[in-house]
Amino acid sequence: MCGIICYSGSKKAIPILINGLKKLEYRGYDSAGLSVIEDKTPITIKSEGKVSNLEAKTSNITTNASYGIAHTRWATHGRPSEINAHPQLDNKNKICVVHNGIIENYKDLKYELINKGYIFISDTDTEVIAHLIDMYFTDDLEIAVLKTVERLSGTFGLAVIHADIDHKIIIVKRGSPIVIGVGDNEFFAASDPIAISDYTNKIIVLNDDEMAVLNSKEYFIKNLRNEVLKKNIKIVDKDSYSNDKKGFESFMLKEIFEQPISIKNAFRGRIIESEGVSKLGGLEPVLERLKSIKKLIIVSCGTSFYSGKLGRYIFESLTELDVEVEIASEFRYRKFTLDKDVAVLALSQSGETADTIAALKEAKRKGALLLGMVNEVGTTITQLTDAGVYNHAGSEIGVASTKIYTSQLVLLTLMGLLIGRYHGLSFIEGKSIIDGIKKLPEQIKEILSNAKNIQKVSKKYAHFRDFLYIGRLYNYPTAMEAALKLKEISYIHAEGYPAGEMKHGPISLIDENFPTVAIAPDDEVMDKMLSNIEQIKARNGKILSVTNSSAKKVIEISDDIFIVPKTIPVLQPILNIIPLQLFAYYIAKEKGRNIDKPRNLAKSVTVE
Ligand code: GLU
Repeated sequence: MCGIICYSGSKKAIPILINGLKKLEYRGYDSAGLSVIEDKTPITIKSEGKVSNLEAKTSNITTNASYGIAHTRWATHGRPSEINAHPQLDNKNKICVVHNGIIENYKDLKYELINKGYIFISDTDTEVIAHLIDMYFTDDLEIAVLKTVERLSGTFGLAVIHADIDHKIIIVKRGSPIVIGVGDNEFFAASDPIAISDYTNKIIVLNDDEMAVLNSKEYFIKNLRNEVLKKNIKIVDKDSYSNDKKGFESFMLKEIFEQPISIKNAFRGRIIESEGVSKLGGLEPVLERLKSIKKLIIVSCGTSFYSGKLGRYIFESLTELDVEVEIASEFRYRKFTLDKDVAVLALSQSGETADTIAALKEAKRKGALLLGMVNEVGTTITQLTDAGVYNHAGSEIGVASTKIYTSQLVLLTLMGLLIGRYHGLSFIEGKSIIDGIKKLPEQIKEILSNAKNIQKVSKKYAHFRDFLYIGRLYNYPTAMEAALKLKEISYIHAEGYPAGEMKHGPISLIDENFPTVAIAPDDEVMDKMLSNIEQIKARNGKILSVTNSSAKKVIEISDDIFIVPKTIPVLQPILNIIPLQLFAYYIAKEKGRNIDKPRNLAKSVTVE
């Protein structure tokens, strides 16, 4: 979560650090801080809340300090407060540390350090790092940091400066993302290249257990044995940073409206119509092995877990694979054997999701083929997996995922098509899926053109405190994802349920104050959905349905409806979720929520 930005050069450091922190704001945080050093004296400024609070505090500081480190914090140990904000300092106020991640053995280390006379000021796990570095420091900061890192378990992206060592910044990565930015006699480090995009497009992606040593003249990348590594500089395409709302009132709304494009980008160049099959370049190196796979396990978290759940239905319908879907944070605890016949597919927007990375590492140990589906290029999951596919959906800044979800569904269908055509799937079936996918962008545009009406309906529902979302088959995961959207951004309690489970418990909740959103398209389970809707109506429950214009009975019985175009059942969830993304959005707007940055949440979940 959260972010780090560092600068060493000849310009004033504070404005560069603040500018970088602002660009990292989308990652979610609760406090922020920075340390710069001038004439061997650290200046540390911290504040609770927004980066603009920190900026206000820096405005009356006059310093020419030209190196420093900065941080936005998403508290894991110790409440959000100025004292707990980073940088954390040693007792001599010489060593300043910022840290993303969690030090799992911090309690033991803290106890050891207290016994040695160190005084702890904060409740953070991070503070142990500052004291450990001090304990190991004689005259070489790199050695002291390396000795410290040897003692740490957990995950970290670290940046360290020392008041007596001019312009030197030491960065270490294990688990939390960090890139180094290379400028002209100036160097940067950041959790996301976007934070330094105003200064350089030359970056080096650090891998786990690598260290970078920066000063204003040069940089070195080293391993944890202090050996210098040769790493390539990557040029980042400026257009891939899109932290501009392009006229929309929020990033989330912009991203909802970008779905016709993000979906096109997901399938562009990836279908061979004449053969009724897909072509996924990223999977080609493992294609032979993929053909012989018997079982697929999809691991993911949050919204990606719901696309994974839909992935199971997709793969079961298109291939002969045995498919399991597992929450990544639970997968690692299971007792299982995996072998060469099993592929594990990780879905992650950021490519840095800590729980998903942990699950992949577990699967690697057991010998499975590792596949990834991520949006952010060059991230940890892309490096850990044997092969994978990119979403190419452009940056998703709104914390609640929208365009990546639908992009994942298209890519899962293309993967299913690829594997399915080696199994029993016919050319005709393959062709009809391709025809369906190609129509999606126009169909989504049609739904989006009805946004005003969706907003009107949403307003009517904004005062309710609880919602039930129900669906069957492909639309059961849709119900869960739609409920998640509502709770994430509006803070209203919502549950997604398989419609058939209603009578086994949740129906007792239903009354006139507990509305139900029924995802009931015109498909093979529509009649069963109709019975569930009847049961809810009989108990005075209000019904808002997402359905097709041909589903006359659903339209008749519902209090309100969102009509979506009809497509083949395997693709229908991609259309069904769109009005429900808008529904959640407009309710949250009605309630005045901070939609792009909902409370307590962060975009990229890099802690376990
Ligand atoms: N665990 C650290 C803390 O709570 C760092 C959290 C973060 O990644 O921001 O201070």
